[in-house]
Amino acid sequence: MKIGIFGGGQLGRMMALAAYPFNLSFSFYESAANCPSAPLGEVIGDKEASKASLDAFLASADVFTYEFENIPVAWVEHIAQHKPVYPSVKSLAVSQNRLNEKQLFAKLGIPAAAYHQVCSQADLQQAVDTLGLPLVVKTTMGGYDGKGQFVIRQAEQVAQAWSELQAGAPLIAEAFIQFNRELSIIAVRAQDGETRCYPLAWNTHHQGILSHSVVPAPQVDAATQAQAEQYITAILHELNHVGVLTLEMFQTDQGLYANETAPRVHNSGHWSIEGAICSQFENHMRAVAGLPLGSTQELRPSAMINIIGQHPKTSDILAIPEAHLHLYGKTERVGRKLGHITVTADCLDTLNTRIQQIAAVLPNKMAL
Ligand code: AMP
Repeated sequence: MKIGIFGGGQLGRMMALAAYPFNLSFSFYESAANCPSAPLGEVIGDKEASKASLDAFLASADVFTYEFENIPVAWVEHIAQHKPVYPSVKSLAVSQNRLNEKQLFAKLGIPAAAYHQVCSQADLQQAVDTLGLPLVVKTTMGGYDGKGQFVIRQAEQVAQAWSELQAGAPLIAEAFIQFNRELSIIAVRAQDGETRCYPLAWNTHHQGILSHSVVPAPQVDAATQAQAEQYITAILHELNHVGVLTLEMFQTDQGLYANETAPRVHNSGHWSIEGAICSQFENHMRAVAGLPLGSTQELRPSAMINIIGQHPKTSDILAIPEAHLHLYGKTERVGRKLGHITVTADCLDTLNTRIQQIAAVLPNKMAL
């Protein structure tokens, strides 16, 4: 079986690496020939997404998936008219638009920030008047790693927020959630509707980019894990989703609030390569290929630490017990995700010690 993957970044690379032992082969729809996935299969595509390139991609594989959601629905629809695409076009259309996501949360009774749709500066002013300050303004589509966002803290900032983001309109203005920390849950749904959930991850961001995740999130009670599982399972079934889906949430004194979904494997699940019985990448490929799902159970407490901007010395990382290095074959650039490190331990204390050992040898000394 050959699997065609929209996107050729590190997520596609790790999907292919996970399914390579099953003798599956891969093609990637990606305009950059030297992308992180290139060593794993055929790279097809051009920036304009010409019909010829989409047809060549269609011919290149039996089943299709995607590794990032900021692709035009029309490209995926073109493929879906002829061959299976998992997750479905519906999953993609909902997850790539924050308004659709919010409507989905409301329909399923999942708590989320109150919001207003914003199409003009007057709408934004009205959102400030009704939702209060601070107010988080976001583009409905295309934002990632904190890009396409503005937090209005003072009433005088309305015009500035509008002028900075109006090119991305329609916008969404959200009430500011006073959260204690950010958690995410990742789950997988098979073609027959079976679902399995990974333990909650505790995610810490630095300058809008995920810096590290700890799994299972410390001090999570069984009720919180169960609540998160209920939310994500409801979303998976509602979308008839096949493959991995991620739900990012805020933990507050009033419980969990949904922030956004990703219809794909997620950075906060990279720990699962070494930390779980079956990784998010392998489970996604199993679902897409129509194979039985693997166990999502964690093996040991794990942390995932992103390598951002500059590479560490490989030998420094590998000298740390239970540390595993994953590099994506990218060149260095400020703010760019170049790789990640997974580290495991038999208890949280030892895990924290190892996280600090890793922090000490990362070139751009992140506060971990
Ligand atoms: P997002 O792109 O939606 O994941 O937002 C990026 C980051 O902005 C999140 O990880 C939060 O730290 C913060 N953020 C987003 N939405 C809200 C909100 N409604 N209230 C408070 N903080 C938020």
